[in-house]
Amino acid sequence: MTPKDSAATPVAKQNSSTVDVPFIEVYGAREHNLKNISLKIPRNQLVVFTGISGSGKSSLAFDTIYAEGQRRYMETFSAYARSFLGGLERPNVDKIEGLSPVISIEQKTTSRNPRSTVGTITEIYDFLRLLYARTAEAFSYVTGEKMIKQSDDQIVQHVLEHFSGKKTIVLAPVVKGRKGHYRELFEQIRKMGFLRARIDGELVELTPKMQVDRYKIHDIEIVIDKLVPSVEDRYRLSTSIQNALQHGKGTVLVLDADTNATQFYSRHLMDPATGIAYDDPAPNTFSFNSPYGACPVCNGLGEIEELTEDSIAPDKSLSISRGGIAPLGEYRDIWIFSQITALLKRHKTSLTVPISEIPAQAWHDLLYGFEEEDPKGKREPFIFEGVMSFLKKQLESDSENVRAWVQEYTTQSTCPECNGYRLKKESLHFKLDDKHIGSWPKWTLPNWPPGWPTWKSD
Ligand SMILES: [Zn+2]
Repeated sequence: MTPKDSAATPVAKQNSSTVDVPFIEVYGAREHNLKNISLKIPRNQLVVFTGISGSGKSSLAFDTIYAEGQRRYMETFSAYARSFLGGLERPNVDKIEGLSPVISIEQKTTSRNPRSTVGTITEIYDFLRLLYARTAEAFSYVTGEKMIKQSDDQIVQHVLEHFSGKKTIVLAPVVKGRKGHYRELFEQIRKMGFLRARIDGELVELTPKMQVDRYKIHDIEIVIDKLVPSVEDRYRLSTSIQNALQHGKGTVLVLDADTNATQFYSRHLMDPATGIAYDDPAPNTFSFNSPYGACPVCNGLGEIEELTEDSIAPDKSLSISRGGIAPLGEYRDIWIFSQITALLKRHKTSLTVPISEIPAQAWHDLLYGFEEEDPKGKREPFIFEGVMSFLKKQLESDSENVRAWVQEYTTQSTCPECNGYRLKKESLHFKLDDKHIGSWPKWTLPNWPPGWPTWKSD
């Protein structure tokens, strides 16, 4: 097929059946210094060209195979689009069969950034992010249900269908599952002219200087309207819904006053059962290099540095005074050892016995902390924060030396929040063909040669 023929058909026919072809076959390659060579390359396998400098490895890989794949891909665009892209010259080769769309990664030294993957270096991942932002469906990370998004009209219509003739309260959610006393918020709501709110499921009158328990988690909604929805008075319902959406940042909660049944609605992507909402997806929702997409626990690295019992005390036959807690080293007359001595004394043991002989409870308290009131209530209580917490604090030190000292005793492990997928949980609940974006780069190829490293599978 010549470029002219394909102008009318914007689909690459020559590539449509290459999936099952076992070889890429090259006939008569003569680009640069290639001497009219023909060869078969197995598909779906890792293939390596070796040879002395100047033998034509790059001429074959980049200037022939990649160049032809790229050219065929360009041909799939319409003549109009190609007028912007410019034409690509056909490489000097008789024929190549079994070629599918190609990408190339040049043999340049890329920065050894732990955030880079084949996907990000080749920019394929950028296209995948765009695809997810435009077409993926969102699912609730709580219930797994599909998230929905409604227009104001759809919300009104739904309320009319389900609440007509019932005593109904329209609420604007303003606090969802967060701690705080909310004194200022209640004052603000009152100043806006609202008289009632629903706090943790209870309808209450708003009074001056009102507040709630600051250490408890609260749900607070403003009571926007009490009404009996009807088709005849659609205007009132519509106004109340609009009002609630405005105060509830695009969400509204409708309550059946007799049964206490509730229904959430949102202009944004929302789980109708729990009311959790996601922002509309954008390409950076799926970027582990962006604060909009990165897992907050590992900052998008997929791994965390952890201190574990074994990483800080690898040899349990050692006593603490002999350096059994590796980062602390051997006993010295410093604060942390006097704390440990005092703690072990309370547990009727000491830092001269091997760690393996320290009673389990004493070892646990030593690692994770211990608090004891003075039995006579005269002295200050004895409080020891624990070696783990002490070392963890050093990891956040401003001094690089201090951090490096403790880092030596950490182990790398897969981030428990994102399971190594590097994205926040909302981002991992946008799915295409039942797969979140993180699962694509982890796919293994069919016929991957035995013994070669594979990507981590789920
Ligand atoms: Zn993570």
